[in-house]
Parts: sequence; C-alpha cells; structure tokens
Amino acid sequence: MHSLIFVSLVAMFTSSVPLLAEASVYVFVITFISNAMLVSWGMFFPNSQLFGYVLSRGDTERPVLALTFDDGPHPRSTPQILDILARYHVPATFFVIGQNAFGQPQLIERMKNEGHEIENHTWEHPFSQAVFPLHHKRRIRQDLEKCNAIINELTGWTPAFVRFPAGIKSIALMEVASELKLTVTGFSVRAFDSPGRISPDQLLERITSRVFPGAIILLHDRIMGQTNDALPPAVQALPDLIVTLQAAGYSFVTVSQLAAHTTRSTVECQKSQ
Ligand SMILES: [Zn+2]
Repeated sequence: MHSLIFVSLVAMFTSSVPLLAEASVYVFVITFISNAMLVSWGMFFPNSQLFGYVLSRGDTERPVLALTFDDGPHPRSTPQILDILARYHVPATFFVIGQNAFGQPQLIERMKNEGHEIENHTWEHPFSQAVFPLHHKRRIRQDLEKCNAIINELTGWTPAFVRFPAGIKSIALMEVASELKLTVTGFSVRAFDSPGRISPDQLLERITSRVFPGAIILLHDRIMGQTNDALPPAVQALPDLIVTLQAAGYSFVTVSQLAAHTTRSTVECQKSQ
C-alpha cells in the first residue's frame, strides 16, 4: 500500500513536468495493477503470508501427515469417518463450524474421546465467503469467539488453530486470529472433494501423488448443502487413503503435533484438557 501512495505522489509531482506526465500515468497504472494483484494473492491464496503467518505444513523430514476435515460435524458422514479413523487408529483434526457443533454435541464429544483435535472453522461459515473477511473486526471477533465458546463448552479446551472459509483472508481477520491466539491454518494438499467434482479414486490419486513429509491434508466431512444421497467422497476414499499412505511409510499426527515441528516459536499447543 505504501508503494501505491508513494507512486501517486510521484505522479502528481511529475505531472507538472510535460515530458514526465505521460510516463507517470503508466507508472501509476502499472503500480496500481501490481498492488491489486498482490492484495488479491494475499486474500485468496489460502497459504499466502502477505497478511501474516499461515501454518501450511510441518517443518520436518519425518514421514508424518496431518489429516484435517472441514465443515462438520454432519450427523451421517462424520460418524462414518470417525468409524474409519478408529478402525485404523488414526488421529485427525476437525475444523468444525460452530453452529454444526452446537447441533451435534455428541459428535464433538466422540471426537474428543477418540483422541481427535477440534479446531475453529468460524461459527457461521457464511456462503458469501469472500465477504466474511471484509466485515468489521468486531463482527469477525464475535463469530470466532462464538465458535471457540461452543468447542470449549463441549470439550473443555480452547481451540488454538483456525481455518477460514475457503482460506480467504484479510488484515482484520488475521488481527482477530492473533488477538484470540489462534494460529491461522492452511493446507499442503487438497482434493477439491465435493460430490460430483471428484470420485473417490481421483481423490486417492490426487492426495497420494502430492503428499510429502509434514503435509497437511485438507478433506471435508460435510459438504455445503449436503443431502443424505451425496456423501463426501472422503467417506469412501478414506480407508484406501490411510492404507496407501501407511504402506508408503507415513504415520498420522494432529495439527498441533505437526505445528510442534515448525520453527515458528509462537506456534504452541495451548490446549488445557
Ligand atoms: Zn469450510
């Protein structure tokens, strides 16, 4: 932003000199466009660090992975995913929507009892995801605090990580996360796993061909607008995914365990179970 102001001042000054006036217009336009592109990258690329730190992988050579599930819990698909995780003794991290957690408290309790982490994915997860980061800080803070509160009420711990809807960020969002001591979390590999968009086989291939030591895998245990006929592809793909990755030598950890592998000193597990 400072560069844009600086160039604007230069353009105003040079506009008084006829030979420089035309060039200053080009400089201004180019700088404006490049700044707009930079801000767009910061907002819309989930792992971009323009507005602050984003945890997108563990800094480790050890063959560990973090499985994460967004948007749940869902009364039909989440229990199936929990059954599979229990069968293979795999811990996962669930970035839950607060109002879904409020509606399915028994699933949050089950996640906790079975050794999974429950983290913040906002209270409302608004459909107008691009608008959410543009809200006033007070409104954003209320939303994140409300999600923190229901997780705390159901588990006894306070979330230490937040993943924003669609990974869209803003300066205000990052500031609120920092104030609430929430580490903003991105991902290393994702499957774009909406029903009809990707088959379980494609999901398996996409994830297994892209993982690396310390990767955070993004899946969904609930799909927006999900009907009972359309389970998330992750439900079907998960057993093969776990078996394939374990056969490749990987083991699974939670996000807070993976964060312990990063060199960022401010990332700490703040849970007090
Ligand atoms: Zn989401």
